Amino acid sequence: ATPMSIMVGVGRGARAGVLIKNAAALERLEKVDTIAVDKTGTLTVGKPAVTRVVPADGFTDTDLLRLAGTVEQPSEHPLARAIVNAASNDGTGPIRPVEDFDAPAGKGVTGTVDRRQVAVGSGGFLRSLGVDTAGLEQQADDVRREGATAVFIAVDGRLAGVLAIADPVKPSTAQALADLREAGIDVVMVTGDNPVTARAVADRLGISRVEAEVLPDHKADVVARLRAEGRVVAFAGDGTNDAPALAAADVGLAMSTGTDVAIESAGVTLLHGDLTGIARARRLSQATMGNIR
Ligand code: ADP
Ligand code: MG
Repeated sequence: ATPMSIMVGVGRGARAGVLIKNAAALERLEKVDTIAVDKTGTLTVGKPAVTRVVPADGFTDTDLLRLAGTVEQPSEHPLARAIVNAASNDGTGPIRPVEDFDAPAGKGVTGTVDRRQVAVGSGGFLRSLGVDTAGLEQQADDVRREGATAVFIAVDGRLAGVLAIADPVKPSTAQALADLREAGIDVVMVTGDNPVTARAVADRLGISRVEAEVLPDHKADVVARLRAEGRVVAFAGDGTNDAPALAAADVGLAMSTGTDVAIESAGVTLLHGDLTGIARARRLSQATMGNIR
């Protein structure tokens, strides 16, 4: 492609809200046949909120929100923000310091609050810490079938409750996916969330292929697997944990609303902070590249 045609293509993309950083990204965009998309913050708004508190025997709603809100305080994860907000709305009092804080990526958080050991995260994470989650699995599955995330809380190794955390789908997502499908592009959901939650959201959006419970380090492996199937793969994401997948894809598509690390790892920034404009930008890039061949 000539520098002139690339400038034209980049300019047209920008008008569709798709900021293309370099010639390579523009040239590859037109050949993309598969888009792998992160769920939280990409398909969904990314501002989850606690919608239900399910305490185990011996705990109250306020206990749960106070303990979980305290241990989530240092975390920047969207689920942590939801829990901290719910705790402060519940008026659980001033947040106290948390000691021995740890936050294994894609799993949850642990810390000591008032000399009590608190763990907050996925069922699998709590089980890996030796917590028996069976007592609330039924309730957690109800939460997941609604398309919400079930977050477990344990205190001193004992199951203390489950929080339902819901993150609505972006208003623009359904149309953006319809445009991609019409352009003949396969859409694959890739998420760290539970398979039941992921499936519920995917069904609502007509996405058939779902890769769930993918740890942050492994999102790039999913991209590599799709490429090994002979596909030309774009990955769309917003989070720091999406950066390796954005870099591994033929084209990385970062939400402008995402973290700096995500934006830096991608060849393309989606200026509206959603999937709108990808199909249009791809058409424009095909037209541009077609003109100059
Ligand atoms: P996604 O791919 O949807 O952005 P992540 O990979 O960040 O999700 O997280 C995967 C799962 O790990 C979450 O669904 C949740 O169960 C758990 N998790 C991660 N971080 C936290 C946290 N700070 N608090 C509670 N749970 C967490
Ligand atoms: Mg995300």
